[in-house]
Amino acid sequence: MTYNITLIPGDGIGPDISDATRKCVDATGVKINWDVQEAGSDVVEKYGTPLPDGVIESIKKNKVAIKGPITTPIGTGFRSVNVAMRHKLDLFACVRPCKSYKGVRSRYQNIDLVIVRENTEDLYAGIEFEVGSKAAKDIIELCETNTKKKIRPDSGISIKPISKTGTERIVKYAFEYALKYNRKKVTAVSKANIMKFTDGLFFDVARTVAKKYDGKIEYEERLVDNMCMQLVQKPELYDIMVLPNLYGDILSDLCAGLVGGLGVAPGANIGDGCALFEPTHGSAPKYKGLNKVNPVAMILSGVLMLRYLGEEKAADRLESAVASVIAEGKYVTYDLKPMPTDPTAVGTSQMADAICEKLM
Ligand code: NAD
Repeated sequence: MTYNITLIPGDGIGPDISDATRKCVDATGVKINWDVQEAGSDVVEKYGTPLPDGVIESIKKNKVAIKGPITTPIGTGFRSVNVAMRHKLDLFACVRPCKSYKGVRSRYQNIDLVIVRENTEDLYAGIEFEVGSKAAKDIIELCETNTKKKIRPDSGISIKPISKTGTERIVKYAFEYALKYNRKKVTAVSKANIMKFTDGLFFDVARTVAKKYDGKIEYEERLVDNMCMQLVQKPELYDIMVLPNLYGDILSDLCAGLVGGLGVAPGANIGDGCALFEPTHGSAPKYKGLNKVNPVAMILSGVLMLRYLGEEKAADRLESAVASVIAEGKYVTYDLKPMPTDPTAVGTSQMADAICEKLM
C-alpha cells in the first residue's frame, strides 16, 4: 500500500530536518507519496500569507501530515501558523512523548513520560482584546458589574475558555492512549485551586472520565506548580499527564529538558481522522540552511506517524536505528557531542544517512 502524506518543510531549519526525515522514513521501506506543501515566513511574499489555502486542503485530503517548524512572524497581522493549523483542522490532542535515549546527555536517565496537551482552548484560543480598545473597555466594565472587582483601565485582556466538551475529549484521549500503549497512570494537571471555573472544571470533568477506566488505568491530580517541582525531583513517579493548552505547552519543554533538550522531542497533533506530526522545537532561524541542527526530533515525529499509520514494525526499526546512532555517538550533530564545538560533529544530512545505513 502507498500512503499519501502531506509534507510541510516549514522555514528556518525546517527544510534541513524535513529532508532528513523524509530520507529516513523512506528507508524503512514504507511506500509514501509525499505531497510537499509550502508554508511559513519564506512564502509570504509569494502567497501573501504564511499559510496558503492549499496546505490545509492537502492535509484534509491526505488525512496525515508531517511538518517542520514555522517561524511566528513578529509585528505583522499573522498569529502563529502552527496554532492556526491546529484550530482549522481541529487537531485537539497534542501528544509529546519524552523518552531517554542512551547517549543523549541529561541529568536524568530512564525517563518515559507522555504529555497529552489540549490543543484548541484555554489562553491559546486567540481571543484577546488590546489595551485601550473599545472591546477591552466593554469587558472591563462587564467584569466590574458582575464581579465587583476592579481591572486597571490600561489592561490588555486574554480570554481563557475551557469547556466540558473539550476537556472530556482530551482526557478520554489520554486514557485511550494509556490503554493502547500499556501505560499505567494518567495524571491530570491544572491550577484548580485558583481558577475554579476553568481549571476546576478541567479536574471535575477529568474525574468523571477517569471513573470509566477505574481498575484499568490509575488516575490522580496535581496542581501545575507542584507538578513542575515533582517532575524535576522525581519524574519516575509519573507516566501520562493530561493538561490544558498553556500548562501543556510549558510542561512539554520542561519534559523535553529532562530527556536532553528540544533536539530529541517529537510531537503529534491528533484530531478525529486527521493527524499532523511535528517536532516540539521551533525554527531556530540562526541555523537556517547550515545543515547543522539535530534532525532527531522530527525523525522521531516520523516514528509517531508510522505508528499512527499502523506501521508498527517500520516504526520500531526506525526508532532503534535512531537510538543506536545516538548511542554510538559518532555520526551525531554538535548538540549530541560532549562539547558543542567538537570538530567531529556531523551535519543534519550526514546524521540522517547514518540512520538510513542502520535500516539497510
Ligand atoms: P527554537 O526551538 O527554534 O530554538 C531554541 C533553541 O533550541 C535554538 O537556539 C537552538 O539552540 C535549539 N534547538 C532547537 N531545535 C534544535 C535542533 N533541532 N537541534 C539543535 N538545537 C535545536 O525556539 P525559539 O527560538 O523560541 O523559536 C524560533 C521560532 O520558532 C519562533 O518564531 C517560534 O514562534 C517558532 N516556533 C515554532 C514551532 C512550530 O513550528 N511548531 C514551535 C516552537 C516555536
